[in-house]
Amino acid sequence: MTSTSPEDLKRGISKKALELGAALVRTCPTDRWSEHPIQDEAYWPRSIWPWAENAVVLGIPLFAPMVATTPSMVYQELYNTSNRILDDMAYRMTTWLTSMGYRAAYFPRDCYFSVEALLGNHCAAFSHVLAAYYAGMGTIGDSHNLITPEFGPRVRMVTVLTDADIEPDSMLDGQLCIHCGRCLRKCPSKAFSDEGEGMYRMDWDACTKHHLELKGQRHWPCGICVDVCPVGDDLERYKGSDRVSPSGKAHCAEHGS
Ligand code: SF4
Ligand code: SF4
Repeated sequence: MTSTSPEDLKRGISKKALELGAALVRTCPTDRWSEHPIQDEAYWPRSIWPWAENAVVLGIPLFAPMVATTPSMVYQELYNTSNRILDDMAYRMTTWLTSMGYRAAYFPRDCYFSVEALLGNHCAAFSHVLAAYYAGMGTIGDSHNLITPEFGPRVRMVTVLTDADIEPDSMLDGQLCIHCGRCLRKCPSKAFSDEGEGMYRMDWDACTKHHLELKGQRHWPCGICVDVCPVGDDLERYKGSDRVSPSGKAHCAEHGS
């Protein structure tokens, strides 16, 4: 193993991540899962893989005009492409860390077999949303999505775990969600309910059943809660105008599904 300092390794990881196409990269110790417990211990990185000392989280945007066509094949292909790119980046980052003598492994995107498999058991093997939250990429909004300053919830992440000693990023202070209620009002499956105690209660099966309907219509995932969220610098350039014209949205919905 090389004797790179945590600071130099952090710089190297950030450089590598940008070369691989990441728009966002954050790192954190996996102690944060136990210091700020949200999921059961079985989901904590070290419960799964004993060498997981640090997490490297890579993020890429979902482009706002394409998200605005959902449900459509345009959004479905964007979603699929983001998964492929993230897995590719995580594979290459893992290769790079391994080549320097560190232990490293990544959790692939969408680590579940199919939407059907989520009915009654909505938890995938690993939450990249939580990893990104612990690494300071964003905060968790009322919609349970990660909300980032740069892209709001229009972002996808993947996580590499490693025993390498890496300088950590801080978690973000405060909350980026502005509690506007748009995600609650616009959700087609009425999956959210506001119980007045922070994040909305979520009926995961209602969301999954809606996805199964969309899959039957050959365009999924839904992503309306991702589309309607007003947070994110990515929306600045579309302020005061539609991100996609009504006719363009109808066109994308009609064709290819
Ligand atoms: S993905 Fe769609 S159905 Fe699921 S919570 Fe978001 S808006 Fe509702
Ligand atoms: S749509 Fe509004 S309430 Fe929902 S996550 Fe975004 S900011 Fe929060």
